[in-house]
Amino acid sequence: MNLRTPGPTPCPPEVLEAMSHQMINHRGREFKRLIETATARLKALYQTSSDVLILTASGTGGLEAAAQNCIGAGDRVLAISIGSFGDRFAQIAQIYGGNVTKLDFEWGTAADPAKIDEVLKNDPSIETVLVTHNETSTGVTNDVGAIAKVVKAHDKLLLVDAISSLGSIELPMDEWNCDVVVAGSQKGWMVPPGLVFVGVSPRAWAKIKTVKTPRFYFDLEKAKKSLATGETPWTPAVSLFYGLDISLKMLLDEGVKAVDARHRKIGAYTRARLAEIGLPCLADEKYASNTVTPVKPPAEVDIKGLLTAMEDERDIVLAGGQGKLDGKIFRIGHLGHVTEADIDDVIANLTELLPRFGFTPKVGAASA
Ligand SMILES: *Cc1c(COP(=O)(O)O)cnc(C)c1O
Repeated sequence: MNLRTPGPTPCPPEVLEAMSHQMINHRGREFKRLIETATARLKALYQTSSDVLILTASGTGGLEAAAQNCIGAGDRVLAISIGSFGDRFAQIAQIYGGNVTKLDFEWGTAADPAKIDEVLKNDPSIETVLVTHNETSTGVTNDVGAIAKVVKAHDKLLLVDAISSLGSIELPMDEWNCDVVVAGSQKGWMVPPGLVFVGVSPRAWAKIKTVKTPRFYFDLEKAKKSLATGETPWTPAVSLFYGLDISLKMLLDEGVKAVDARHRKIGAYTRARLAEIGLPCLADEKYASNTVTPVKPPAEVDIKGLLTAMEDERDIVLAGGQGKLDGKIFRIGHLGHVTEADIDDVIANLTELLPRFGFTPKVGAASA
């Protein structure tokens, strides 16, 4: 099966093989080696000297951990949203007692740092800002570097959902001054779902000490304390740590800049191949994501029928739209262990199937 969704993503054979390891004592020396190696490598890929914690949970668990630990009851929070994952982070912050102001941008566009500046200027009571680095539902990458500059000029705490970017798209946590950065194993890290990484700056730790929100499983101070002895507070997903051990080494051997360049290249390639057959992308080229491309065919195209046929007849799994984009777009994931040949395969099969579902691809494209 050819999984072309923006997470889970295909795992390299070496990662799959590593995960078949017999179980070990998670309070023993071998696990200590695994977690210490993974943490050091993650810090290198986060480009940070701050702590990076590894929790056993899906990406949303990491966002929940960020909210529980960093947002106190009644804290004023600015939640920037450009799609359904931005909405989710805002909702989590609200559930944990944050007094949330939403700043929404049209789906398919990026957040405007000037607007963020204006809101922060007009409302000095805001303490914390939430932002999505790469909005997986709309295929847009926010300029977190520019946004962080604005947020830091106002001296606010910045929590970043980098779940579908970090590990593929560069996010230098220290240089950009981000306080909490969340990333998930099943995206560009080439590991199955189940681990989430949470980078925590010294400033975030200072805030965490003051937050009284009840927390247990996701208590980041407990995670930090356990890590000091090479452990996790609770039983971790041990098998995934074996996979992570291999994938992080692969990413570091390649290098942060090269990984970012590889995704830039495959992102641009995917958009160019879609343009060739006349299929429009949802997002404008200037902020288009290099990990996921949402395609917006004309309204009469039967997207659900197309995706079912791609899966049943061609063994290629694409993702549909989320929230208000359900039935209006489909998405091609191109993060992690995916090549341009894999994209060619998607385009060739789309070209063959599309006429049956109401779209005539531009001629001459299928032969590439
Ligand atoms: C995938 C994703 C999530 C959610 O992760 P889960 O692992 O499904 O909980 C959150 N934010 C973004 C941007 C994502 O791409």
